[in-house]
Amino acid sequence: MFDTLSERLSGIFDKLTRRGALSEADVNEAMREVRRALIEADVALDVVRSFTDKVRARAVGADVIRSVTPGQMVVKIVHDQLVEMLGSEAEPIDLNAPAPVAIMMVGLQGSGKTTTSAKIARRLTQQQKLKVLMASLDVRRPAAQEQLRILGQQNSIDTLPIVAGQSPTDIATRAQQAARLGGYDVVILDTAGRTHIDEPLMMEMADIKAIAKPHEILLVADSLTGQDAVNLARSFDERVGITGIVLTRTDGDGRGGAALSMRAVTGKPIKLLGTGEKSDALEDFHPGRVANRILG
Ligand code: GDP
Repeated sequence: MFDTLSERLSGIFDKLTRRGALSEADVNEAMREVRRALIEADVALDVVRSFTDKVRARAVGADVIRSVTPGQMVVKIVHDQLVEMLGSEAEPIDLNAPAPVAIMMVGLQGSGKTTTSAKIARRLTQQQKLKVLMASLDVRRPAAQEQLRILGQQNSIDTLPIVAGQSPTDIATRAQQAARLGGYDVVILDTAGRTHIDEPLMMEMADIKAIAKPHEILLVADSLTGQDAVNLARSFDERVGITGIVLTRTDGDGRGGAALSMRAVTGKPIKLLGTGEKSDALEDFHPGRVANRILG
């Protein structure tokens, strides 16, 4: 996802590190090129501006210009600033609440909510040995509940039995009861999406949230949609309140800007990355590792 950006930046920094001494003008020129590279990678404009301003402020400091390896110091400053922009520390799913802990998955139709629900459930079951129940609250798309049931079956994860004619809030209530009675540690609620954000969707999410009192509300966003994904995260956060973001399709050839802007624009952490269609294609988001990957 970051290949093009990474190539562009390494071109800029190779030039910079090859020169011995650096003038303020050299640093400014490099920052202009970094700015262009970030914009082309689809990073949100105000995020780019604030990023390059911060790097420039630190990089034109006398210590850098006078140092023996000024180019490398600039690269280090860019690296540190990237890490900060991405949220500094990895933020795993927080399950620190009385069981059953509810995780509510929200997002647009086709963003990967159902697939990601199963991926998370599988990981919690297999790696953390937790007892997980999944429930589909999507009563709009006829096949949605069945899709989750099949994923559950394939990955040996329990799903709430399907009862026709129930509303999403009825299902949320039933899921909680079943989770409590069944001694589950975690209940994952896979909600319905739409092709775009609309009022009924937001109201439905708010109703479910009021009933399920989820400890985590994870927005699932398709990284291939670039800035739309960032705007989506902002809208969902303003209307429903999210606790974290899962970026899907990071195995595709998106330009990466969404990943780089998300945290700065929404203030909410990217927690996980979807890296493929299979149920094990899920990775933690580590700001430091991502910055290393981008800077090669
Ligand atoms: P939902 O409507 O939000 O529940 O979306 P789905 O979970 O049904 O996913 C829609 C499609 O995206 C499915 O074909 C998934 O296999 C695919 N998908 C989901 N996450 C990823 C991912 O990280 N990478 C790739 N390549 N495909 C994904």
